[in-house]
Amino acid sequence: MNHERSRDLYDRALSVMPGGVNSSVRATRPYPFFVERGDGGHVIDADGNRYVDYVMGYGPLLYGHDAPEPVQSAIQKYASAGPMYGAPTEIEVEHAEFVARHVPSVEMIRFVNSGTEATVSAVRLARGYTGRDKVVIMQGGYHGAQESTLVEGDADHPRPSTSGIPQEFAKHTLPVPFNDEEAIQEVFEEHGDDIAAVLVEPILANMGIVMPVDGYHQTLRDLCDDYGSLLVFDEVITGFRVGGLGCAQSKFGVTPDVTTFGKIVGGGFPVGAIGGKSEIIEQFTPAGDVFQSGTFSGHPVTMAAGHEYLKYAAENDVYDHINRLGEKLREGITDICADQAPEYTVVGTDSMFKTVFTREQPAMLDGQCEAGCQQRPDCPRYDHCPKTGGDVANAETERWERIFWHEMKEQGVFLTANQFESQFVSYAHTDEDIEQTLEAYKHAL
Ligand code: PMP
Repeated sequence: MNHERSRDLYDRALSVMPGGVNSSVRATRPYPFFVERGDGGHVIDADGNRYVDYVMGYGPLLYGHDAPEPVQSAIQKYASAGPMYGAPTEIEVEHAEFVARHVPSVEMIRFVNSGTEATVSAVRLARGYTGRDKVVIMQGGYHGAQESTLVEGDADHPRPSTSGIPQEFAKHTLPVPFNDEEAIQEVFEEHGDDIAAVLVEPILANMGIVMPVDGYHQTLRDLCDDYGSLLVFDEVITGFRVGGLGCAQSKFGVTPDVTTFGKIVGGGFPVGAIGGKSEIIEQFTPAGDVFQSGTFSGHPVTMAAGHEYLKYAAENDVYDHINRLGEKLREGITDICADQAPEYTVVGTDSMFKTVFTREQPAMLDGQCEAGCQQRPDCPRYDHCPKTGGDVANAETERWERIFWHEMKEQGVFLTANQFESQFVSYAHTDEDIEQTLEAYKHAL
């Protein structure tokens, strides 16, 4: 493939943008390809190369690059009518009503402009509501670029995971290993009365995809109830993707107090949202006294796009299609791995998938594997599946980044550029795309 124009653009970008990009994960080595346009389940780069796209904007693009007609005309209509006013509009109310109707935990919602803004506001809300300072997070979980959650280490030794955050901030954050019931119980025994919230992705989706073990979220729910802390599900990625319109909380049957959203709920435009019980969400100003505000919040174009996105999904076979292709892809990759890389583990559920480059072949495997499997406990490989962020961090992460991703790209398949970020099937993908992708996996692995 020829990448000359992308390389030139990256040269120019490096002079005017730090690292040549506006979001760090985009700076693939040695240089990223610059996108010219999307086409269904594909993107075409500045040199005219075509790729099957499973990055899908890092999650928002439920329909790929061809939004259904009602979405497109709503975007045009609201963009040309305003596009925004600094005063409320009907479409915000309609979108809020729709989300509240479909997501079990949501009675009220505040729309903001990014997933990060949603989690920042959710943490402030939890602290304001409970009058407590500490928040529990999962090691390897991600909640955007914010001070309270860019923290690593463990509950006894939390430390900022980036420069620019004072240790004095990090000390209020308690990282625990995902899926470890004993660890979270101990943290509650020691700090329970100071814990404002447990912040958790229902599925770790920025750490290779790690599914919750049976009962883990219920344990979090019970501990939060016992100690008067809020359970916050960060559904920025899983929201309206896993578990359909009911989101991951309906799939797992656990109702959080607060849910953060982003990505799909904005129909491809910048968005975030904080939803939950009225009693809690009404603590936000001007109803309550936890300050929250934003010039672009509830932007009419975003609201219209998001609303038409979800309405279309409610009325069509969107989730059936993407979940079927997701399963086909996971099963196909699993077969290829069994043959060519039996130590690797295929993970994911619904329309999310990833191959974790785990290092050892499970002893009990005998070439038989039902993986591609949503990490079901009845799978013979279950013990081998990553259960914590650390399990994924210990994989052959360099091999993904330095070799595998490039191989796939050169064969026309655009995956996320590191071992940790999820990949997504969209409504625009076809069986043919899946077959092409599996051929590329075969070759690259
Ligand atoms: N929470 C989760 C679970 C996310 O995956 C992300 C972004 N990938 C965020 C929060 C932050 O969202 P944004 O990038 O829109 O700020």
